[in-house]
Amino acid sequence: MRPVFRFAPSPNGRLHLGHACSALLNQRMAQACGGRLLLRIEDIDVTRCTPEYEDAIYRDLAWLGVEWETPVRRQSEHFHEYRDLLDRLIGEELVYPAFMSRGEVRAAIVEAEAKGGRWPRDPDGAPLYPGLDRRLGKRERRRRIDRGDPYAWRLDMAAALERVAPPLAWTELADEGMHVAAEVEARPQDWGDVIVARRDIPTSYQLSVVADDALQGISHVVRGRDLYLATSVQRLLQQIFGFAAPAYFHHRLVTGPDGRKLSKSQGDTGIAELRERGVTPAGIRAMVGLDEI
Ligand code: GLU
Repeated sequence: MRPVFRFAPSPNGRLHLGHACSALLNQRMAQACGGRLLLRIEDIDVTRCTPEYEDAIYRDLAWLGVEWETPVRRQSEHFHEYRDLLDRLIGEELVYPAFMSRGEVRAAIVEAEAKGGRWPRDPDGAPLYPGLDRRLGKRERRRRIDRGDPYAWRLDMAAALERVAPPLAWTELADEGMHVAAEVEARPQDWGDVIVARRDIPTSYQLSVVADDALQGISHVVRGRDLYLATSVQRLLQQIFGFAAPAYFHHRLVTGPDGRKLSKSQGDTGIAELRERGVTPAGIRAMVGLDEI
């Protein structure tokens, strides 16, 4: 079977040098092993994603010389598939409706910290969800949902970990030559009870990325180092659903002139801005350290 790679941008802003690095690296690694390259539009956030940004993604990638297979999978057209997976998690009681507001979360943490000890933070530095509503009775949950209380579906991390056979790990390719691999221990517990779906959108980044990587038969996930630790949660979900795990390669991040991570609002590193300033695709490849293609 031919290896399958994917580049999976979100159309909630313009592409920058970091995206160019990911897309070009996916293309180069796919070509090197006779693999396929798919493009996936991750547009579950229907309020922030726009058709204009999506069109711009196609334009910028074509200009860069990236070629992908069609049809392109757009996540917003597959909510029913994510819903089915969410229903499996609900059926197995691995998720619960989490009703605590930001204020309630903050108050619970202040109270816990007043009793001693620092409340645990996730790898991004955000406090873990206290989950005081994890054990609410079925009737009380129903009552609150029917009353219209806002909630999100959160993974019951302890229950989910009990479901999978240890050790949980992923294969990280140690270089883009793809032959040197390391097994990395997955530590989903570091993220606590993560959000799996929202009330109005039956999915989240984590659920749909796992669903699509499996449904599209992705064998190699090549993306930025900023998603390295999120892989732990993705491995856990893959295991729960019985999905095969792809191999991962998390490439170094392209940083701005100030050494900071790029964001979609940084004009000086946007692909379109650079194009307008006369930078060529070869120039972009040089800027992201991939100029020997
Ligand atoms: N859609 C994500 C982003 O634009 C990337 C997801 C992934 O590669 O797993 O940051």
